[in-house]
Amino acid sequence: MNKNICKHAHRYDHSFLYLADNQGQTGRHKCSGCAYELGRHHALVGAPKAKNDAVLENTPDSQAGTVRHKDAFEAYLLGYDSVTGATARQIA
Ligand SMILES: [Zn+2]
Repeated sequence: MNKNICKHAHRYDHSFLYLADNQGQTGRHKCSGCAYELGRHHALVGAPKAKNDAVLENTPDSQAGTVRHKDAFEAYLLGYDSVTGATARQIA
């Protein structure tokens, strides 16, 4: 239902360059920037980490820019872990 296109200028864009290209999942056309923000939000409010990319159902699509065709669900997990400290990766 939600077919809005993301127009945010995500300040995290440079962090997504190493994300794997996604060729088949629901997250393919989703905005990884918004997915990252969603992951951070879930962690901050204490929500359980999503187990699959169905959590991105209402995430805006991304049609252009750095995050295009990146794995939005991986971005979600990255955002979540950036809050919980579950990863050694640093989001500079
Ligand atoms: Zn976005």
